[in-house]
Parts: sequence; C-alpha cells; structure tokens
Amino acid sequence: MKLQDLGEFALIGHLTKKMRTYGNSVVLGIGDDAAAFRAADGKYILVTCDMLVDGHHFWRDRITPEQLGHKALAVSLSDIAAMGGVPRYALLSVGWPTDVDVDYAEGIYHGIEKLAAIHGVFIIGGDTVSAPQLILDVTVIGDMDDDPVTRTGAQTGHLFAVTGSLGASAAGLALLQNGTTGEAILSAASLQALLLSHLMPQPRVKEGAVLVKTGPPSAMIDISDGLASEIHHICEGSGVGAEIDITSLPVHGRTRKAGEFLGKDYLNWALYGGEDYELLVTLAEENAMIVQKELCALDVDFTIIGKVMAKEKGVKLLLGDGKAVDLEKKGFDHFP
Ligand code: ADP
Ligand code: MG
Repeated sequence: MKLQDLGEFALIGHLTKKMRTYGNSVVLGIGDDAAAFRAADGKYILVTCDMLVDGHHFWRDRITPEQLGHKALAVSLSDIAAMGGVPRYALLSVGWPTDVDVDYAEGIYHGIEKLAAIHGVFIIGGDTVSAPQLILDVTVIGDMDDDPVTRTGAQTGHLFAVTGSLGASAAGLALLQNGTTGEAILSAASLQALLLSHLMPQPRVKEGAVLVKTGPPSAMIDISDGLASEIHHICEGSGVGAEIDITSLPVHGRTRKAGEFLGKDYLNWALYGGEDYELLVTLAEENAMIVQKELCALDVDFTIIGKVMAKEKGVKLLLGDGKAVDLEKKGFDHFP
C-alpha cells in the first residue's frame, strides 16, 4: 500500500497510533491545531509546527521572499490562534536549494521578522540544511491561562460561526494561476486584496483570544484545508452532526466578482478552497451576539453559518431551495 492510498489524515492516524498515551502533564497530544501541556506555574504551553514546500504549497516565481516568510510564520501562528493562545516564540527550520541567492534568503527572513514583531514573537532557533526544494518549517510556542479550545467540545444546539470572510484566498490563488490581472472586472485594490489573502494571510491571533474571553467557544479550529474539511474535523472529534446554511456563508463581493471573471463558483472556493486562516467555532447561541459585538470593535465580521446537530443527523449543507445534501468531506489533502 502506498501513502497516497491512505490519505493525509489516515496516514497520521496510522503512524501515531501507539504514541497517543502521554504523561500527566500533556493536556493535548496529537490531533488538534496545537499540542498543549501544563507548565509548573499552571499555565498551558502550546506547541505547533507547519511546513511549506516549494512547488506544493507555493511557487517561488509567484510569491516574493518577504511574502513567503510572512506566510510560513502566519500558518503556524494561526494554529496557536485556533486554541485561543498567545504566540511567544518561534523556531525556523529551512531546507535551502544551494543555488538560492543570499538576497532571496534575507527577504524570507525579513518577512518572518516583520510578522513576528507585530505579534511580539521572538525567533529563538531553528535548523538549516540543504535540500533539493525550498522547504520552510516553523514551530511556534505559545501559552494561555484559560483552557485551550479544542476540536472535540462542540455541543448539540450550539451554533457554527466564522470570523472574516471565506474563499478570498482560493480566489487569489486562482487569479495567480490564471496569470491574469482580472482588470476588466476587478479594481486594482480588489485584485491586490485577493492576491494578498492568499500570499500573506493574517492569522486571527487577537480574535482567538477575544473568543476565548467572551465566547467561549465549545470548539475551535482554523480554516487551513477548507471550511468543509474543518467542519468534518469538529464533527468527528466532537461526535456531533451539523447543518450548514449555504446562503449564510460570508463571501466578500470581490471574491464573487473574481468567480464571475474566471467562470468559477465562489461557493466552491468558500467551502473547499482552504487557506483562509479564519477561525471556525461552535458556541452557545446566547454568546454569539456578545462575540459579534466584541469582534465588530476590532473591525472583524463574525457570521453564524449553521447549527451543531446530533450525530445521527449527519453533516448537511442546506441549499438555497430548502434541500439538504451531505457536505462533502473534501478539502486540501497532502496525499490525494
Ligand atoms: P493543522 O491542519 O491544524 O496544521 P494537521 O492536519 O497538520 O493540523 O495535523 C493534525 C494533527 O496531527 C496535529 O495534532 C499534528 O501535530 C499531528 N501530526 C501531523 N503530522 C504528524 C506527524 N508526522 N507525526 C505526529 N503527529 C503529526
Ligand atoms: Mg489548524
């Protein structure tokens, strides 16, 4: 059997089967956005890592080195945000093809340093090797006083909600791949915003902390592989079902326009596109308005997109015409 026959998540499950018993200090091991353990002072320490590979997660000729550095750190910060934690330290491991210009390498570090400074994160180490392809792997260590929010706590009757808007990153990627500027239909500012959604995602660190204080969510995950895939992670982890209303998905007007321009379905981007790095949560109905108000003060939308149902109800997508279909599990898989 080959890795591709298993798929990413089954592979992780298979290889880590025997590792999933931990000492008392480990609060969360394999299976969530970040691992968590308790420090001597009672605080939770969070740890996560994420890897980007040239030709797979990015194309060197379509992203600037500064943007690439930003993105490499942003995706790991997003996993700390998804627990509601505060990122503190990062370690940066790089596999460099030996023909990379030193200027280019410096550019990557500038991008990382700039984002690290915004979030008060210190780069405290890493590893450097030569490799046939450029590979960036960023480990982030964070902490929090409150209990970390997992993927496994969703409760029947709670609501599903997301920060920001969906599908913009996939629209930006489609525009990049298309090699077209979309000028005929998109303003320069809209085009730039869509490209940056993909090239320089902004991790929802502040928002994650606000959610923990005001929600608090029963479950939370960041949208890296796609909304549908993350909904399934929460449902499987929590032993619940879902009813997601397709008409309520927050999709920015410029994302819709890009879909029109490229002849693509923007709802497909919103559901299965991935790399939005928004936060998907479940929370009690009575708290949703409070969170909405708090995030509004940060100029961030918070949209209710559905309901947590009993497991027997399955994971459903309610279409505009009142019909319900199974929400497909697909999303980005590293071993499709
Ligand atoms: P995310 O999409 O939030 O980055 P992943 O889907 O990459 O999370 O990983 C899911 C879980 O599996 C995480 O807890 C991660 O630490 C764990 N994991 C991923 N790859 C490995 C591996 N090679 N060995 C052990 N654990 C892994
Ligand atoms: Mg994640």
